Amino acid sequence: MKKILFFLLLNLTFTTMAETIPLNKLIGQFNEKTDPNFVALDSTILPVNKPGMYLQKEVADQLTKAYQDFKIAHPNIPFIVVSATRNYAYQNSIWQNKWDRLFKKLKNEPKTAQEILKYSSMPGTSRHHWGTDVDITSVSSDYFTQDPKGKILFQWLQTNMSKYGFCQSFNHGRKGGYQPEEWHWSYQPIAKKFLAQYKKILASNEKSIINQLTFAGYNKIKLRDLIEEYVFDVNPDCY
Ligand SMILES: [Zn+2]
Repeated sequence: MKKILFFLLLNLTFTTMAETIPLNKLIGQFNEKTDPNFVALDSTILPVNKPGMYLQKEVADQLTKAYQDFKIAHPNIPFIVVSATRNYAYQNSIWQNKWDRLFKKLKNEPKTAQEILKYSSMPGTSRHHWGTDVDITSVSSDYFTQDPKGKILFQWLQTNMSKYGFCQSFNHGRKGGYQPEEWHWSYQPIAKKFLAQYKKILASNEKSIINQLTFAGYNKIKLRDLIEEYVFDVNPDCY
């Protein structure tokens, strides 16, 4: 009996451990290039627009399948990974550049943050930290709504990406959060765990996340409210 109980407890411990995502992974404070769960896209057949991009292995495998099937259907239409994992330091440099440029013009911290947040995340709150999310071919809505090649690509992505586990995080018809992004696709089986963990930590111990976020303007904006809006207001298919 004692033995059975011991194994039950052991099993429970491992299950719980496996489900817990460390905080540093949740907010991108790690190096994807040296993480054993990540793979360099340069070592896959996926076309990329720059070297040195990484994804979680399972995500890269599933994306490769999608890419291969897309190429069978549309050999002459570009399907290129233009962004994959971005860690905190990388996202912080994006944020800082936009902040410096926009704050000069707007001279108001909340307005500056709001303007950046149309398309870019606060460091520590991006789905790109998770190694589950990619941007495909273009980061311009015009490409997907005006360009004939972009229209075909978007139509295919909408119809087929769920077969490989991907959802369009920032779709049309949400109440808040980022503008629609036709290019941004998320590997739901893993990303949903990150999202659930983010919610859990923000509810139970928000300081543990918030204290880590010290990007430009962090103390002049309603950080908690913005996290709730921009991290949680995503396509229900991604939950
Ligand atoms: Zn993206």
